[in-house]
Amino acid sequence: MGGGEVSAGEEYGLNHRDTEGTELAMINCDPAEAILKHLVIPVFCVKCGSQTRLDSLSDSEKKSLVEMTSFQNALEERRMLIRIKQLFDRFPDSKHASIMCKLFPRDRRPGFEPDAAFDEALGNQPDIKKYLSKRSFLLPARLRAIEAQVVQYQNELSDYSIQCQKCFDLLAIDKEFFNQLN
Ligand SMILES: [Zn+2]
Repeated sequence: MGGGEVSAGEEYGLNHRDTEGTELAMINCDPAEAILKHLVIPVFCVKCGSQTRLDSLSDSEKKSLVEMTSFQNALEERRMLIRIKQLFDRFPDSKHASIMCKLFPRDRRPGFEPDAAFDEALGNQPDIKKYLSKRSFLLPARLRAIEAQVVQYQNELSDYSIQCQKCFDLLAIDKEFFNQLN
């Protein structure tokens, strides 16, 4: 596998690990084990954003926090992928490289053509533009995989009880700290 090549697994949305390390279920190191070594866990509220550090969690509470954070990350990724799909759907006939690379595997990819209207639309959504440029994935496969992950988390998360003290919404692990667990 040469530099810059995308593995077959990545092409089809499998074994995907993005540069921010937000994929939990598909990588080797297990954050639910890694977190047990830490006494103090920085967290933030997914609703009001308030930050705090928890220092008296049981092992099962720590693991539960990892699950909830992974769930939040999956929801976040799903929101982004849906926005990308909505953007692509506005340009059904476009052969713009950014669209073709995310819709077709390398060996079945049609030739690219410039598309100024799509460039303009992409320029208006800089977070999407950055996301597309930083990651290798096929949108239909990745969306299916993340939908399945979200459903799995929804089925498994039944007794999560670590709440924000201000608004009583859910707490998730600080992003930077969470990435270090992977
Ligand atoms: Zn809150």
